[in-house]
Amino acid sequence: MLLVCGPCSAESFNQLHSTAEGLKDLHVDYFRAGLWKPRTRPTQFEGVGEEGLAWMKAIKKDYNMKICTEVATPYMVEKCLEYNFDALWIGARTTQNPFLVEDIAIALQGSNTTIMVKNPLNPDVKLWLGSIERLEKHNIKHIIAVHRGFSLSYNKYRQSPLWRIPLEIKQLCNDIPLLCDPSHIAGDKQYVKEIANNAISTGFDGLMIETHYKPNEALTDAKQQLSIEELKDLIFNLPKVGNTDNNITELQSLRTQINDIDDTIIEALSERMQLSRKIAAIKKDNNITVFQRERWLQVLDKIQKNAKENNLDVAFTKEIYELIHQESIKQQNLIINKSDS
Ligand code: PEP
Ligand code: MN
Repeated sequence: MLLVCGPCSAESFNQLHSTAEGLKDLHVDYFRAGLWKPRTRPTQFEGVGEEGLAWMKAIKKDYNMKICTEVATPYMVEKCLEYNFDALWIGARTTQNPFLVEDIAIALQGSNTTIMVKNPLNPDVKLWLGSIERLEKHNIKHIIAVHRGFSLSYNKYRQSPLWRIPLEIKQLCNDIPLLCDPSHIAGDKQYVKEIANNAISTGFDGLMIETHYKPNEALTDAKQQLSIEELKDLIFNLPKVGNTDNNITELQSLRTQINDIDDTIIEALSERMQLSRKIAAIKKDNNITVFQRERWLQVLDKIQKNAKENNLDVAFTKEIYELIHQESIKQQNLIINKSDS
């Protein structure tokens, strides 16, 4: 199993050193730290940049660990190659830009460096696959795919895992290792372990986990980084993957995808009920009755057509919607009666 650990960002030489010291007996394959950080807003910490190149080189030498960081431009690639990085990763925001991936692939040509390709932010298998193919086209030999979740709502995590997408990539790119980055999916350390366990029992080849010697003081992604102790607990308790029977792996993979969809259904239902309660307040203000026959018939008509187009049994779908509608009316009545008292 491949293990990539280290802080979200390189902050200082001491921070990298103290984190690497904690990791030294854990058989970590790559030490990670972002030098150039892709931040949503320019007022946030954007990384130490080139200053960190020498710090990482020192970690490689002092701890005999391979090193990796994120690259987004040919200049960053050139710099990292100059400092003998063993691996580089293309971040989610870059994977979705074919021009940049092409430029990065050209800059990497002829080097032996491993390149990790994170999935794009939007759940598009072809876009992810396209970046991998672009690297292959330029003869890049050592490629790893990294699943870091997708920017969608309806999920308790920071990013939706949508497991079916990395599993499809695994099928399409049989010879490319697939890692999971549970840290960026989770967004919160309390979920990192469950996502990591899920990935390993579903047949992923390894993990990229953000680890910091003092997570609470981290300058980026503080909530999701594990301390050394938390990382040890996660690693030592990973599910055993003794059973390599293809059928069992397939069963686990299908179950993972079903769990994912169940989460999405529950969260979508919760959001639907919230909207319904907002509507109740407007109905109350405007003296409109809770049950609106015309509106209900429109909803029913729409979902029945939609069910048909999606190969769902229409009667079954109608039955589910009758239950949802009943609950919605119950919730609206609760709101209206509450504001009366
Ligand atoms: C990271 O690994 O720190 C990072 C920014 O990754 P992503 O591109 O997945 O957001
Ligand atoms: Mn991060």
